Amino acid sequence: MTDDILISARDLTVGYQIGKGIFNKTILNAVNGVSLDIERGSFFGLVGESGSGKTTLGRALLKAAPITGGHARYADGEVDYDLSTLDGAALKDYRKRAQLIFQDPYAALSPRMTVRDIIAEPLEVMGLTKGRAETDERVREIAAKCRLNLEHLRRFPHAFSGGQRQRISIARALVAGPQFIVADESVAALDVSIQADVLNLLKQLQADLGLTFLFISHDLSVVAHTCDHVAVMYLGRLVETAPTRKLFAAPRHPYTKALFSAIPSLDPDDRGSAQKLTGEIPSPLNQPSGCKFHTRCPNAIDRCRSEEPSLENTGDGHSVSCHRWRELLEAVPA
Ligand code: SF4
Repeated sequence: MTDDILISARDLTVGYQIGKGIFNKTILNAVNGVSLDIERGSFFGLVGESGSGKTTLGRALLKAAPITGGHARYADGEVDYDLSTLDGAALKDYRKRAQLIFQDPYAALSPRMTVRDIIAEPLEVMGLTKGRAETDERVREIAAKCRLNLEHLRRFPHAFSGGQRQRISIARALVAGPQFIVADESVAALDVSIQADVLNLLKQLQADLGLTFLFISHDLSVVAHTCDHVAVMYLGRLVETAPTRKLFAAPRHPYTKALFSAIPSLDPDDRGSAQKLTGEIPSPLNQPSGCKFHTRCPNAIDRCRSEEPSLENTGDGHSVSCHRWRELLEAVPA
């Protein structure tokens, strides 16, 4: 792993036992053999339909979901952790370095705590400050960075709008000084007019504090405007990953193309000739053979039904998992 990589995963698998009893040990692999590198200081997007495994992958990288196969590594220059075996004092330390911003700012904040206590809680639980004065100073500092009015620290969450509540959630996630942030659908519950405000704040904080984001979203327009690099997930696997501009300019996997075709166009001449995504994502408990997308792919051939493609590096930071990506690329009209 090079110095510019903060998080690296190799063949990462996250499995849950869902059968009950000693004779029924059915395992559901929500994430299956994922390999990726997240560069330090980047805004890395993770997209896919619900049920694709995005949230589970994010939680595994926070060491909040069981890693049952492969490896994940976190290295920030001060520490170098293997997340698959991390426990004890090292795990406690990792909790300071890696944090989650929740999706729903209404459900994430305790209605019985003041804003000051909500933001201060991680500092107190982790024992990161000595006494109330130091805690208050740190809370005021991070609240100001998150554009919260300091007078609001004495109030309760119900007094605030959705955008203000999400800024409180962000302040709470950042108060312990993490390097790595998983933002899971962090603007999805907000009005469109507020989304841009919160996204601008996240980008500003990334630049000011040198943060690295894993930005999980189903909203491709938001990802296109926010992320440096994007990975596309389908049924627990990565099917395509590339720098954002490259991916949006020339997607190579049929699933990525279908997802992009669902983005509304402002062009009146664009009558939606692109491929549409039909059907539903299969159950992870009953996965198709071969390429997991073959049941919905208009380009599937016999080989796709029997042989699973691997994620192939196609150059320039672009990787794709499809037997036919080259011939489909050549088939695109000039
Ligand atoms: Fe479609 Fe086959 Fe490519 Fe899978 S491998 S995406 S089924 S063309």
